[in-house]
Amino acid sequence: MSSIVVVGAGVTGMVTAIECARVGHRVTLLDRGPIPNPASTSADQHRALRVLRPGDPVMTAQFASARTCWLELESLLGERFFRQVGIVTAWPRNEVGALTVVEPEKLPHIRFPHDTVGVLDADAGVLLADRFLDAAARWLSRRPNVTVRPECSVKFVAEHWVSLVDGTALGADVVVVAAGPWSRELVDIPVKLYRQTMVYLRPPADLAAWWEHAPGAGGLGADCRAWLLPPGDGTLLKISSDLVCRDVDSTAGGEPGPWVDRLLAEPILSEMDRYQVVAVRECHYATDPGTGGPLLHHFGPGLWVRPACGGSGFAAAPLVARTIVEAMEATA
Ligand SMILES: Cc1cc2nc3c(=O)[nH]c(=O)nc-3n(C[C@H](O)[C@H](O)[C@H](O)COP(=O)(O)OP(=O)(O)OC[C@H]3O[C@@H](n4cnc5c(N)ncnc54)[C@H](O)[C@@H]3O)c2cc1C
Repeated sequence: MSSIVVVGAGVTGMVTAIECARVGHRVTLLDRGPIPNPASTSADQHRALRVLRPGDPVMTAQFASARTCWLELESLLGERFFRQVGIVTAWPRNEVGALTVVEPEKLPHIRFPHDTVGVLDADAGVLLADRFLDAAARWLSRRPNVTVRPECSVKFVAEHWVSLVDGTALGADVVVVAAGPWSRELVDIPVKLYRQTMVYLRPPADLAAWWEHAPGAGGLGADCRAWLLPPGDGTLLKISSDLVCRDVDSTAGGEPGPWVDRLLAEPILSEMDRYQVVAVRECHYATDPGTGGPLLHHFGPGLWVRPACGGSGFAAAPLVARTIVEAMEATA
């Protein structure tokens, strides 16, 4: 069995720690804050798990597999955190082909762009992110082969070891840097950083029951780049759009101010003015500056780096963990 140090206890670090612990590796999971850390990208009421990628069977199969992993994690951790409410994506009416369609009038409180219909991803749904992170932290803290170290800030990493701000160092067969959008502070990798605003809404009382059974939705807004996650199981309704996503140099600073108004002006909900704004949050993610896609860097067998990715970075965490565990097995 191998030893592994995981830097960062967001979803990537937690799922990787769990998968490594399950197969018997000795795991140390570090975070500079509490575990789970409310300041992590992953800490949130909910995140979407989309399965269907029209026209992309490979990615559809990958996310079907990720979904299976999430269901297994529910069994392992003894906690329910996946709400299979489905996700409906607005699609040009004349391009839907054989896809399963939901007519917009079936979802009257969601505004579909002109001449679009909803394409139903029935296996998709909402991952209750905070609920998962809490359950994962509890499970990991009970495992004899896992050491969980909150309030433990890492200053530097290299293959097979990490250096902590208290001046000590930890060695391991494998180091995984899952430090989210802060990963590039530890490893010199090219990363493009974005900041995005999310707004949390409470539906009017007369619509609460309708929303409890509503799906997530995407492809909304004036330029079809907005999405929503429905309320339910104690969560609020969340909206955002790529329209309020901007390039930034660092995770520091940034006031959501005007971005909230821009988001609320988007045609996402019917009667938007009846919804109460309860909270606003800014969140960061990173992409490969070349491809604009997700990142998983492998610096030889002893060092992996996964900066927080946008889009489906939460849902994809089990795929990242599996890649790392399989590579460790192959090396062993
Ligand atoms: C607006 C927005 C919406 C999104 N929506 C979705 C969605 O619907 N579905 C989906 O699948 N994905 C979504 N994502 C992407 C997803 O949320 C992220 O990819 C994912 O949460 C990243 O998790 P992570 O564990 O890699 O990083 P994080 O959750 O950021 O965790 C990193 C951890 O590392 C710790 N850390 C940092 N530096 C150090 C250090 N030096 N020493 C020790 N610890 C350190 C931090 O404290 C933090 O706890 C969204 C992203 C954004 C920005």
